[in-house]
Amino acid sequence: MNIVDKNKFIKQHIELYGNELFFDSPSHFSIKSDLLNNSVLSIFESSVEDCMKCELGTSRKKIVFGSGDKNADLLIVGEAPNEYEDEKGRPFVGKAGKLLDKILKAIGLSRIDNVYLTSVIKCKTPRNRDPLLSEINNCHSYLLKQIEIIKPKIIVALGKVAGKSLLNKDLSLKELRSQFYEFNSTPLKVTYHPQTLLNDPALKKNAWEDFQVVRDFIN
Ligand code: SF4
Repeated sequence: MNIVDKNKFIKQHIELYGNELFFDSPSHFSIKSDLLNNSVLSIFESSVEDCMKCELGTSRKKIVFGSGDKNADLLIVGEAPNEYEDEKGRPFVGKAGKLLDKILKAIGLSRIDNVYLTSVIKCKTPRNRDPLLSEINNCHSYLLKQIEIIKPKIIVALGKVAGKSLLNKDLSLKELRSQFYEFNSTPLKVTYHPQTLLNDPALKKNAWEDFQVVRDFIN
């Protein structure tokens, strides 16, 4: 079966049975393979690329759905794409993205190996303002579906806006960082956004402590 036929086969099964594939032979079992996850998430991404559920759809250049390992243990969630990410259609590019890459490398991971990157909302906001509650709510089902497909061991929210959005609680970043939370039964750790670390390098030590905790949790 070539890759086109394989994707067609998987798409038909997803439409019929949802995200689980069932094979009849050699024995009856269900399997969630890497290939299946890749296909399911890619198909889902294609299905939302023209989204206009909120006003932000009219001003974006590219939707920034997410990127990385679709079978990742670690799901990183930022706030919203910035202008550069809007141009590229990829999350965490530019200086903040490079710093995030360094942090991930320091804990033995990379954005293509065991990490998936996305954000609370998938389109850029005007002048990089914080997302509105209505925008977060409109986009929420996309993040939920990404988590359902990827099934990460842990979610890391970068920054206060992402942490508050996921927890639906008005807490300070200090309170958000102070403990593990849960998002739909998946452990959630909140830490600094890399842009904040670029603006105030003295905070890097605290962020490093957070990521060491994340590393130990995954391992
Ligand atoms: S922010 Fe989310 S809900 Fe709004 S248009 Fe973009 S993808 Fe759709």
